[in-house]
Amino acid sequence: MRTIQIHETGGPDVLQLHESAPPEPGPGQVRVRVAAAGLNYIDTYHRTGLYKLPLPFTPGLECAGTIEAVGPGVTGWSVGERVATASGIGAYAELALAPAARLVRLPAAVDTKLGAAVMLQGLTAHYLAYSTYPLKPGATCVVTAAAGGVGLLLVQIASRLGARVIGLCGSEAKASLARAAGADEVINYTREPFAARVRELTNGMGADVVYDSVGATTFEASLDSLRPRGMMVSFGNASGPVPSVSPLTLSSKGSLFLTRPTLAHYIASEEELAWRAGDLFSRMAAGELDVRIDREFPLHEAAEAHRLLESRQTSGKVLIIP
Ligand code: NDP
Repeated sequence: MRTIQIHETGGPDVLQLHESAPPEPGPGQVRVRVAAAGLNYIDTYHRTGLYKLPLPFTPGLECAGTIEAVGPGVTGWSVGERVATASGIGAYAELALAPAARLVRLPAAVDTKLGAAVMLQGLTAHYLAYSTYPLKPGATCVVTAAAGGVGLLLVQIASRLGARVIGLCGSEAKASLARAAGADEVINYTREPFAARVRELTNGMGADVVYDSVGATTFEASLDSLRPRGMMVSFGNASGPVPSVSPLTLSSKGSLFLTRPTLAHYIASEEELAWRAGDLFSRMAAGELDVRIDREFPLHEAAEAHRLLESRQTSGKVLIIP
């Protein structure tokens, strides 16, 4: 089978096409014939070594497809079922192994590619809006990279929960997409300092919460956009990791709360994974959640897909099709 492998960390060119034997599912695993793998920003952290994995490895945490074989001890899953997962490593391949406990079944109303597209970014948007800082009607939230993969989904979910959404985007085209997704206000943060503008838009008060996925370049201004006792949710490093921060900074900027969440802790149990995925799927089926697929790349062009994502030129999901 064909797979992408990384033998040394570095730029997109380290993503190399390889031929290898089909993997045999071990205890608790299934083998999935991958219809589509999702590209996520975390794949670039794995590729560069910002998040370390033992070498060599096949990147990609997210895929959807059909179960082709089940390993010893697996119950409740059968060959031929359409499934998706956002946990595991090795999705950039024709065949991938996934832990059975981390699978979700795709309902008939959800197309396989859309299933791959919504898993990791959708589950993330879901836990941020429902659990990390549960949004209530009337709350004001700021969303960085509001036209990105997580961004477009988070804007829609936050807006549906009744929050006022201030989206931050890097271009006018992205601003239009964020508005169409439900953002009440959009700021192009490559053109104007956003903290001052957020204050203006909130009568000097500041936002209740900032969901910041950009990291190094936005962290400080995100803190400055918050109301006293507001919550800073730093959940990504697209521009680089955030430097260390003194607790006294949080005190001087208004007794702020700071959290650095990660998806694994919000889908730790099978029940929580099933709840969040089920909610996303039923909203997709009801036409309440639009999953925008920006581009699809064949497996052998995985490096090109990474280049595009890192150059800030994508809006929504990028898929890799084996
Ligand atoms: P996106 O589709 O959002 O792509 C990244 C976007 O970040 C770009 O399009 C760009 O949007 C913005 N950006 C700002 N500065 C930079 C920069 N210097 N270089 C590159 N991009 C920049 O990616 P994802 O939806 O896959 O992920 C978004 C973020 O969420 C990532 O940081 C990711 O690590 C994080 N994440 C965290 C999870 C968690 O549980 N903690 C789970 C999933 C994702 P613009 O031009 O509009 O600024």
